[in-house]
Amino acid sequence: MEFSKRTKRTIVLLYCFTALPLMALLFLAFPSQPIDWLIFSFMFILALATTAIPFHIGATTIFLSQWVTVAAFLQYGAGVEMILVQFSILPMLFRVRFLTDLPYRILFSSWMFVLVSLVSALAAHAVGYQLGTTDIGMILIGASVFMFVSLTSNHIILYTRDRILGSKDKFFSRDALWDYTGSLITLPFAISLYVLQNEIGWIAFLLLGIPFLLVTYVVRMYNTVERANLALSKASAFGHEMADRLSANQIVDMFMKRVAELFPLDAIYIVDNLKGRYVVLRAVVDKEEVTIEVESESIQNSFIHSYFSRSEKHCFGKASEWREDAPDFLEKDMNSLLIVPIHRNKKTEGMVILSARKKYAFEKYQMDIVHLLSTYFAVSLEKAKYVHAAVEKSETCALTGLYNYRYLDKKLEIEQNRLDTNPHLYLSALMLDIDHFKQINDQYGHHAGNSVLKDFARLLKNHVPEDGTIARYGGEEFVILLPHMTKQDAAELGEKIRKEVQTTSFLIDSDLSKNRQDEIIYLTVSIGVSNAPEDTDETITMLRNADRALYIGAKQAGRNRVAEYNSN
Ligand code: GH3
Ligand code: MG
Ligand code: MG
Repeated sequence: MEFSKRTKRTIVLLYCFTALPLMALLFLAFPSQPIDWLIFSFMFILALATTAIPFHIGATTIFLSQWVTVAAFLQYGAGVEMILVQFSILPMLFRVRFLTDLPYRILFSSWMFVLVSLVSALAAHAVGYQLGTTDIGMILIGASVFMFVSLTSNHIILYTRDRILGSKDKFFSRDALWDYTGSLITLPFAISLYVLQNEIGWIAFLLLGIPFLLVTYVVRMYNTVERANLALSKASAFGHEMADRLSANQIVDMFMKRVAELFPLDAIYIVDNLKGRYVVLRAVVDKEEVTIEVESESIQNSFIHSYFSRSEKHCFGKASEWREDAPDFLEKDMNSLLIVPIHRNKKTEGMVILSARKKYAFEKYQMDIVHLLSTYFAVSLEKAKYVHAAVEKSETCALTGLYNYRYLDKKLEIEQNRLDTNPHLYLSALMLDIDHFKQINDQYGHHAGNSVLKDFARLLKNHVPEDGTIARYGGEEFVILLPHMTKQDAAELGEKIRKEVQTTSFLIDSDLSKNRQDEIIYLTVSIGVSNAPEDTDETITMLRNADRALYIGAKQAGRNRVAEYNSN
């Protein structure tokens, strides 16, 4: 986040009016010991070297330089400790050198550490610590108090700053916990360094310093590999998870969600190329799903197109590397970008773009993992497409293109759940059966019968609202499910269909007439109507009721009519 003008001014004022006088105070008013410059030089080098090799645990970075600075306090007092801490800020800042407002961040850190040095030294002296002491009990107490107060005051200042800047993090964050855990390593080392250095002088720095730095370095190396491995194993688990999803929407949702969990991003976009035109298929910015309408040309003229056409991935560290060729939809305050192609069968289908406001937020290994994920993603989507097509085929009647009984059965179950969870909803069913259909087959042949069924299905489609479902239930029997429709409205719709069928001329190609010619025939249809929950609470029973109404109320009563179910 960028500092406002006011925040910047406050930092400068705070620094001039508090940090500088406090530094003077730490030098002049606090107890101190004459400095051995050789020892001081070792301390200086070790403090800086330790800060230059921080640990990463999860998203937390911990610096262990206190093993030297606390020893410096025990030996020489608050003034020297303060100088070492102030210089240790430099390697720390080198690691975050790309952040905005760097000079103000340096001033703030410097101010904070002066305050921390002051409070910790006050606390250590308050419990009776005297510089240069050889009393081991006093050393333990002094060092522990110094370190505890130092960590706590540092933590309080950061927490207060974040609160003022609007963050809602908990007081005992994970970062804080790791800082305290880190002190379990640094405190014994600090004490050992102090005691040993008192005994044997500068050699102590080599005896303790070399192994300390080596171990820190090895752990750090291991840590980097570990992080890559961890991300890789998460990515592979996620690949399996994605392959299990069967709908394209679920897969895209999961991809967006998991990638956002895995990488330090502020926004993620999926850009698709549909027959040469670019669209932003999905976008999540600051954890919110957003709809992006963008001209294909804007993407065509951007760097996205060049990476798309070469099917290449790339990792940008800061905005100046891509801003000139940016498409319209990319947020202007982003810096880091990862762009990775989604390809399948050697063909690029689209691009995934991750962006972060922080500079140099992404590492190369992360780009490779996104690439791997995008391959899983493409394969899962392809699989979903086949599954979707196969399911659709198995639920469709090949002759009429309407749903079949299998689908109707599933739909009845879905509707049942809907009714069960909301007692205010209702559902109507129409059961339709073409009158004397057998005669059509007998008179004109099955081929003509089939063509009538197709035309009849088309006619039904024109009458059914969008949320309705039409299925071919049996030979010349059809079912229409009508959610949110009362029995009366459903009966009215049935009546409209009946009238339309009666007046529609069906053109057939008669197989059986002597000189095979097109003929026009007329049909009638009988319809039964039922409703849930008016007639029953069960959707299956509702269908049976509609069937009864059809046969008793319509067929037996003379055909070509609509009959509502009644329980008598
Ligand atoms: P009703 O008015 O009592 O319904 O008389 P109907 O002749 O329509 O009744 P019935 O159920 O006895 O006959 C249905 C006929 O539908 C029997 C069968 O020949 C015909 N049929 C069923 N499925 C198909 C099909 O897929 N294609 C063709 N052409 N005819 C079919
Ligand atoms: Mg019939
Ligand atoms: Mg029938």
